[in-house]
Amino acid sequence: MELLQLRNEQGMRPPPDVCEERQRLLNAYEDASAAYSAAVTDLRRNVEVLPEREYERAYDESERLRLAAREAEDALHEHIRKHGC
Ligand SMILES: [Zn+2]
Repeated sequence: MELLQLRNEQGMRPPPDVCEERQRLLNAYEDASAAYSAAVTDLRRNVEVLPEREYERAYDESERLRLAAREAEDALHEHIRKHGC
């Protein structure tokens, strides 16, 4: 699959118009993933300094961001499936 994509990228010009909705959903997925990643980094840095209750709150927040990133990914895949783009 990756080989085929590579060959296509090398052999074909980029498509003239990229689906705007797909691009929007991809950006949203990237943003959500970056927010989740940053939250996990904070969690790791703060694991030894935060009081347990605050750590749990930060953990819950990172879980919320993880689910949001997952939803953004699902929305992107759902759009690609329906739209065929
Ligand atoms: Zn599309």
